[in-house]
Amino acid sequence: MTKVTRRNFLQGATASGLGLSLQFGHATKVIANENYRGSEDLYRKKWTWDSVVRGTHGTNCAGTCAFNVFVKNGVVWREEQQGQYEQLGDVPDFGPRGCQKGMRHHKYMYGDQRVLYPLKRKGKRGEGKWQRISWDQATTEIADKFLDYATQYNPECISYASGTQMSVKMASFASLLRFGNITGVTVPEFFSGVGDLPTGSHMTLGQVYTGDTFASVYKSKCVLVWMSNPAVTRIPDAHFFWEARYNGTQVIAISPEFTPTAMHSNLWLNPKPGTDSALAMAMAQVILSEKLYQPDYIKEQSDLPLLVRTDTKELLRKEHLSLYGLLAVADNVYYMWNNKTNAMVRAPGTGRADMPIGRDRRKQGTLDLGDIQPALEGRWLVKTLDGEIEVTTVFEMLKEQCKDYEPEKASAITGISADAIRKTARVFAKAQPAMIYAGYASCKWLHGDLLQRAMLLLLSLTANIGREGGGLQVANAPIARGMNQFGFSDIGPAFRLISGTTWDYDHGNMKALNTKIYGQELADTYDSYYQESIAEDWFPDYSKHGWKMGIFAGNNGANWRAAGSAWRKNAFEELETIVSLAPDMGVTSFYSDYVLPIAHHYERHDLMLQSRIPYLQVLSEAVPPLGESVDDWEANKRLAAAISKRAKERGIAPIKDAVDGRTVRRDYTKTLELYTMGGRVNNSKDVAQFIINSSHGIPKISFDELSVKGIVKVNGVNNTMWDTEESPFHSEIARSVMKKHPYETITGRQQFYIDHEWFIEFGEVLPTYKPPLSIKGYPLRMMMGHARHGVHSMWRDDSLLLSLQRGEPDIYVNPDDAIDRRVVDGDMIRIFNSAGEFFAMAHVSSGIQPGMLFMYHGWDPKMFKNEKNFGEVIATAGLIKPTSMAGDYGHLGYRPLAFAPNQTYKDFTCDFEKSV
Ligand code: SF4
Repeated sequence: MTKVTRRNFLQGATASGLGLSLQFGHATKVIANENYRGSEDLYRKKWTWDSVVRGTHGTNCAGTCAFNVFVKNGVVWREEQQGQYEQLGDVPDFGPRGCQKGMRHHKYMYGDQRVLYPLKRKGKRGEGKWQRISWDQATTEIADKFLDYATQYNPECISYASGTQMSVKMASFASLLRFGNITGVTVPEFFSGVGDLPTGSHMTLGQVYTGDTFASVYKSKCVLVWMSNPAVTRIPDAHFFWEARYNGTQVIAISPEFTPTAMHSNLWLNPKPGTDSALAMAMAQVILSEKLYQPDYIKEQSDLPLLVRTDTKELLRKEHLSLYGLLAVADNVYYMWNNKTNAMVRAPGTGRADMPIGRDRRKQGTLDLGDIQPALEGRWLVKTLDGEIEVTTVFEMLKEQCKDYEPEKASAITGISADAIRKTARVFAKAQPAMIYAGYASCKWLHGDLLQRAMLLLLSLTANIGREGGGLQVANAPIARGMNQFGFSDIGPAFRLISGTTWDYDHGNMKALNTKIYGQELADTYDSYYQESIAEDWFPDYSKHGWKMGIFAGNNGANWRAAGSAWRKNAFEELETIVSLAPDMGVTSFYSDYVLPIAHHYERHDLMLQSRIPYLQVLSEAVPPLGESVDDWEANKRLAAAISKRAKERGIAPIKDAVDGRTVRRDYTKTLELYTMGGRVNNSKDVAQFIINSSHGIPKISFDELSVKGIVKVNGVNNTMWDTEESPFHSEIARSVMKKHPYETITGRQQFYIDHEWFIEFGEVLPTYKPPLSIKGYPLRMMMGHARHGVHSMWRDDSLLLSLQRGEPDIYVNPDDAIDRRVVDGDMIRIFNSAGEFFAMAHVSSGIQPGMLFMYHGWDPKMFKNEKNFGEVIATAGLIKPTSMAGDYGHLGYRPLAFAPNQTYKDFTCDFEKSV
């Protein structure tokens, strides 16, 4: 009998996936040798181990599932869910947590896609010819180039982009913050850069973090699962939806395609792609016309009772009424009509002065109406500096707006019957509480902000914002006090954080792309507003020194940029130096000049804190990093050391660098000293401990103790929502409702009426529906979503996970569309439009509407014919909506990670044909 060894067993498992895997590294060579009598013996011995270590997968599934990682002979042998979670009250608990990707990780981390050594490009970019070099050589050469660019131009011309694989791990991201702050590189952020920023939430609430724990789903009586597919994308938490159904909750899925989530829901509504805002506005129309709204709530919490001038459509302000107001530019004082006195009255919560940074402005003032009885309906004459004018309420304006969305009219737009719209609106309004669970997809439409504003309108009218079991569930995030302190400690903030979208617009020739795809008029119009916003200083401009060097950490940008081939062409042909820090070889690394090997999830110390569960999770180093890979802290430390060394050797003098009005002296000889806080911080465990010690809402625990426990419950958890200052997550919206604190909007209220001149110009003063953009001559709208068997590009090439799918990239098409094009299931098809083309297997499915295509995302270009993936036909990256660059209006204007234009992914069309 042939002896089975752990080595050849693993090699065999890997070999089955070689057809599509990205073949790099020789990870299996490090697997320890041990003889077994046969496969039965191997199986039996799988249940023996040397050590058990706590860990998870620090990637963007947001699962943060507690795992035991079993190690034998220095090899991660298998993993198992740890699952020791408590219940929150009467709600089912959070465990066991896990998914097939996590259970597969012990194999994937030894896959041939691993990068094991520093690599330097030989030959042309993308040719795949590499030279293995030492860390010393790699960091010295990179440091020299870094110093050349930083001193000759400015550090601004060096970008350091982090992807979610790095940035959701707290110590890793804190390391980037510190490195970026010291060196002055530009960091294009990923939140808006991948189209995940809920700008509509910021416009309405002055806050983008509106999510609660996943258990809050169980507390809801009606959940609209809108543009989201949690059965696929939130595997460890989707059970809350199905358990809630046993608890009497109506789960209503709203998506154009029949998703696995829709399959398990009480009702599925399938609007035509991109018409969701019309559906939301129609539901609002039903709620208003049938008086299903909650008047007391909207009078106190929202801008609906505020007075509006009928002549100019502006909100009535103090500056309209008094010379003093005009001179003082007191434009954040607003008014209501008080039914009790039949007179105008200043609205509570408005007119607050700006507070110094770091102070909670919300606590200044109150929304408490006292004895005011605001009118929602009516028209009155008031004396202004312009004479006597007529005013009405935002509520009246909204009723007028909603007349365009009577269910019969909305039915013609959405394809949903008027009857179904009415019934859904009634169920939603009468269920108390009711929730909208919306994924990030709503942010990825050009007019996604309007959809979020309409969703929030539904929630506000029914008193469901700031209530357990209610709210717009998109996301929350830790209040990053500990990470920021680590990044800026001793030196203060001098950090260049920019929206990834505006970065791409500036450096990717996006106006030319808009001209080619959407025509000159749109390109000129959008560009003129963009340039005006920059000229007005509403948004920063980090493009003055060009783009010389791109560093990509845990970021496979060339996989997903929505710019057809334009981004790859610009980045890979014009950048002078490209550096990737990556555990696995993907297309971005493949086109780099240097690739630095990074440790995988079980090979590092770090922390995960995600708002869907109330636990801090550890990543402990179960085994040393493979090959010469290191964790992100250590990689940046080696870069910092090389920069210091070479700056000293070359006698480079400090430079003066102006960042956001602050002039900083950057002495690159001191980079390492500053990075390590003078030697006080030496490894990622030290960073993690610093974060625990200085973070808000996390129990003070030693990293070693946390490594034993795996998880620890965070502070301030009273129920399933984030509603206390003691918790580590944003709770401002809940506290505005409970404690009547004003909101961070210019009106201090939930704001549905935005009278910024650009919003008036574009007809977006109130939530409304605008059709999605199409590309002329191409009839099919292509939609995408997160995959079940991968997280972005990670695990997409794993052999076992591929065997659970079709083994290669596939795209869902409607049977009628397939027949029209003589395509049958399994055919290779060419998907194309004026931006480009790519090839994939046709997956014919009646779950897809006629006129649309659907593809799960993340497939790396290297898994496609011609190395071209779906990104070739998505040419939306230059579609920067003018209103998303508005400023000089209270809460509107650049706010990193809060108000910035999204890179959008949906507003395009294409066609397909059978590939010959
Ligand atoms: Fe959980 Fe994400 Fe790991 Fe799956 S990949 S087990 S969802 S942490």
